[in-house]
Amino acid sequence: MVDYSTAACMSDIIPFSDLCRFCDKLSSSEWKKRGDILLRYIQYYREFSAKVKKINPGINDSFYPVMRLLVPSLDRERGPYGIKEVKLAQIYVRILCLAKDSRDASKLQHFRNPSKAGKAAGDFADVIYDVLKSRISSNENLKISDVNQHLDNIANKNASNDPRGIDDELTILMRKMSASEQKWLVRMLLKDMKLGIGNNKILSTFHRDAVDLYDVSNCLKKVCSTLKDRNTHLHEIEVCLWDKFRPMLAQRCDVQNVDKDLPRQEYYLVEPKWDGERFQLHYGDGKFKYYTRKGFDYTNTYGENASQGNLSPYLSKQFLPSVKNCILDGEMMCWNSKMKNFTTKGAEIDVKMLKVGNVHNPCFCAFDILLLNDQVLTNMPLHDRVGILNRVFTPVEGIFMNTVRSKVTNKGEILSALNRAIDNFEEGIMIKNPFSVYKPNSRKDGWYKIKPEYTEGSMIELDVLIIGGYYGGEGRWRTAVTHFLYALAAPSSIPGENPTEFHSFGRVGSGCTQEELSELGAKLAPHWRRVKTGIMPPNIIWTKEIPDLWIEPKNSIILQVKATEAVPSDSFHVGHTLRFPRIQKVRDDKPWTDCLTVPEFFKILESSKGK
Ligand code: ATP
Repeated sequence: MVDYSTAACMSDIIPFSDLCRFCDKLSSSEWKKRGDILLRYIQYYREFSAKVKKINPGINDSFYPVMRLLVPSLDRERGPYGIKEVKLAQIYVRILCLAKDSRDASKLQHFRNPSKAGKAAGDFADVIYDVLKSRISSNENLKISDVNQHLDNIANKNASNDPRGIDDELTILMRKMSASEQKWLVRMLLKDMKLGIGNNKILSTFHRDAVDLYDVSNCLKKVCSTLKDRNTHLHEIEVCLWDKFRPMLAQRCDVQNVDKDLPRQEYYLVEPKWDGERFQLHYGDGKFKYYTRKGFDYTNTYGENASQGNLSPYLSKQFLPSVKNCILDGEMMCWNSKMKNFTTKGAEIDVKMLKVGNVHNPCFCAFDILLLNDQVLTNMPLHDRVGILNRVFTPVEGIFMNTVRSKVTNKGEILSALNRAIDNFEEGIMIKNPFSVYKPNSRKDGWYKIKPEYTEGSMIELDVLIIGGYYGGEGRWRTAVTHFLYALAAPSSIPGENPTEFHSFGRVGSGCTQEELSELGAKLAPHWRRVKTGIMPPNIIWTKEIPDLWIEPKNSIILQVKATEAVPSDSFHVGHTLRFPRIQKVRDDKPWTDCLTVPEFFKILESSKGK
């Protein structure tokens, strides 16, 4: 009798025969009932452990020793046994002292052959049971821990290439077990339990997040210890102040397919898709930690406290006094303090290498909060987390910014949001389910990223000519030209002559880096002329969309513009425009006369329809 008060772990108390009885019941029951039987067994284990814990609080109550026997093919902690049916048959013939040509020896050696093995043919463990049941009636009451110990020994002997040692271990085990126990032992050794219930079902009956955790960790021990409590969620356990975690990710979505790809929902939240580096910021009692998405620690760069690094001294002043500690998820962006805007990734400035006093400084743009004042918030819907995030710090432009989001309820609004983002020099948008909880490392739980490139097969590239310029909108380089009106050429009526008329076709701003934009701006600057209300410049025709400045075609530059498709539009004289246009290249190597013509464009449009 085991003394509950001194046992080190539950597996020292639970008889192996109990587990075998349970396995018999599970495998022989109706398919529909198996889930309930398993659940009851696990519940019983939990309740029994809780009782024992009252007597022996220090006991290890992990389900792991049992779990690794139930799903042996998932147990990566123990090495291979190097045992197959043939070897087991030889050992049984020897320890049972069977004559080589006896019926039972033949059953074991030809276990797949129904004429030799009878009804149990095909399943080696069943054949063993058939051979043993009349020979063995007792057992030595091995505990789960004893069996695990012997299995460890077998794996170790196999690793050290000691076949005789394996034989000895097996012989000891088999002599101590009943026929039924040996049947299950054999299944464990062959790593095929034939329980009639899948490994994933066993894991998910133990805990709803067990499959997810096993998938990322491949560690049954971790699954059993982390998810011991059925009522806690994995995403709550994984997030802990000062410990890095793998952030939640977004799945790609084609803007054309939003109706199909996004589950029906009252509304979604649209956020800018920040084009920087993902960072998680841990803050508590004046201290900071910064981790990248892959878990690299950049605290030395950004600062461990208010007097160190190139960011913490500024952030520390912005947290509200009520914030004792928090974890923020966000993007580290590179802010150009001279231009007062973000520098895109295309500029190839590493936001992790910025020096104090530089034109560029790091700016943390928060979009989520996962912990506040010791309370983990991951299980709260995004909508509530965002409400909390808005009350945690006072944003400062270019240093510590909050994500501005809007609600969308249909595809049209999502298209407009993407359009605005592209026009605003952003690479795309993030669409988030406001009711989604935060699941670390998950990519399929309610976050979607949309970029024009995700619209497959429909990208087109055209060479168009700049005919007009727009000054930057609010806050952005108010005096600089940031967007262009571009045109297609109307071919000259005399073949071989230069085109004489240009028809407005679209407006574009993003795609190139600020440096490229400034360079382009410098080339065009001497030629810009102010647009006078009601007066159309010579050789240019526009309709509703009118720029602030115009340029004579012969002084202008060709842009290679990339877009998802061409769509009808009455804002431009061509009657069509490009959807989600971006500057692919400034083609100052091409003369202005090489601009795509209107008939050429319609030819491309016609041929792309057939695709
Ligand atoms: P992924 O990160 O999805 O594997 P990726 O590394 O190629 O793909 P992108 O597809 O360009 O990156 O964009 C995904 C990344 O967008 C996220 O990892 C995150 O760093 C970033 N991101 C930008 N803005 C947001 C936002 N508002 N919410 C969540 N993530 C955002």
